[in-house]
Order: sequence, then C-alpha cells, then structure tokens
Amino acid sequence: MRPTGIALLALSALLATSGFAPYPQTNSRKHYESRGEIVWEVPMDEKLIALTFDDGPDPKTTERILDLLAKYEAKATFFVVGRRAERFPEIVRREALEGHEVANHTYTHMYFNGRNRLQDIASEMDRTGEKLTEISGQQPRWFRPPGGFYNETVIRMAKERGYTVILWSWHQDTRDWVAPGVGRIVRKVLTNARNGDIVLMHDHVEGSTQTVEALEQILPELSRRGYRMVTVSELMRHGKSNPVRLGNPH
Ligand SMILES: [Zn+2]
Repeated sequence: MRPTGIALLALSALLATSGFAPYPQTNSRKHYESRGEIVWEVPMDEKLIALTFDDGPDPKTTERILDLLAKYEAKATFFVVGRRAERFPEIVRREALEGHEVANHTYTHMYFNGRNRLQDIASEMDRTGEKLTEISGQQPRWFRPPGGFYNETVIRMAKERGYTVILWSWHQDTRDWVAPGVGRIVRKVLTNARNGDIVLMHDHVEGSTQTVEALEQILPELSRRGYRMVTVSELMRHGKSNPVRLGNPH
C-alpha cells in the first residue's frame, strides 16, 4: 500500500499549502467566508493593506519591526504566541501602546491536526487570551491557528470565546519562515499587493532577520503606491458587505 500512502501524504501537503486543513468536517472557503467565521482578506475599494506578524514576540526582531512601522506610520497586527508573551511582556506592551493590534496565536504554537483534546484547544486559546489582555489591556478578538490548520471544532471554540479566525490572502503568503531570501519576500508582497490584502509574515523566525530587511523595502514602496497599512480591525471596518461582527473596540 506504499504508493497510496505517498499519494495521500502528497494530497495532504497540497491541501495544507493551499490553506485547507486536510481533516474531516471542513467546508469550503465560501462557506466560512459568507458566515464571517474565517477571513482570508477583505475586498474593498480603498488602498488599505493589513500586515500581520506571527510567532513573536522576539527580542531581536520585533522591536526593529516596530521601529520600521513607526517610521512609515504603518500599523500592523501581531499574532502572538502566549508563552513568548509571558517571556517578553514589555514587547507586547509596546505593540499595543504604539497602536498595533495584538491577537491570539495559541499558547505553545500547537497545531490543530484534528486529534487534539478539547481541553487542550481551550487552554491554548484561553491562557493566551488572558495573558494578552493582562499585558496589553486589549482583549484580543482575532485568532490565527498555527500553520493555518483549522476544523469545525476549532472554529466553533474560537467563536464561543468571541474570536474570529483570521488567515491570510493566498497570494500574500511570504513564506518568510523558511528564510527564502530578502528579495523573494519583497517581490511576493509587492508583485501581488492589492486592496484589502492580509499579508502573512513572521516577527520570530529562528536565526533570520530577512523579514526585517524585506520590510525596509516593502514599507516605503507600498506607501509610495498610496497604500495605508492598517490593523486587521481597521481593515474590517472598511470591508464591503463584511459579515464579521466587530462590536465595540476594547
Ligand atoms: Zn505560527
């Protein structure tokens, strides 16, 4: 049965890279988008883009990213890993103080592969949510599952806690976490940039500063083209027929 196993693996890999979790009980993108349960991007006429940074905070790179964002008057959303926030709370505090959005990316960067215990999913979400609220004074409203792996259970549990699942524009997956080269990250974002994009980057990539270096080129060029870089919440407020309920900002 070897070839079948390999074929299945290849299929899973394909599904995973295309943003679909290869597990039972998932529906189409259209299904989740129309219900406002998962957001990949926000169609709009305005020139707004949301830069998102996952896996931090990181004392070597996050502060450099914050400096760059300040220089170009850009706002961003940080999908923070709870246990790293505990180690570097002052960086999370700075993110919030400087007008960025802080969001939930689980406590231990756990992958939801469809075999997780419910109590583990709950604690990954809750410990992080509580920690971020305590540090930043903002109650996070967005949840991004590590690797982009989701299923009905994860979506429902996020929703019960007041979160909407945020993924990213498929044409804006920079793959900066594999350190593909500064030029590649820059080209990915600039070649594909369009209104309402959600760009996926990482402020914590072990041993790499490519994201920071790429931003040194991306930020001035997007500004030159007339884009304004905003938080996910700001992006949502400008969406046409946006099904996500925003509620009051915390
Ligand atoms: Zn991640």
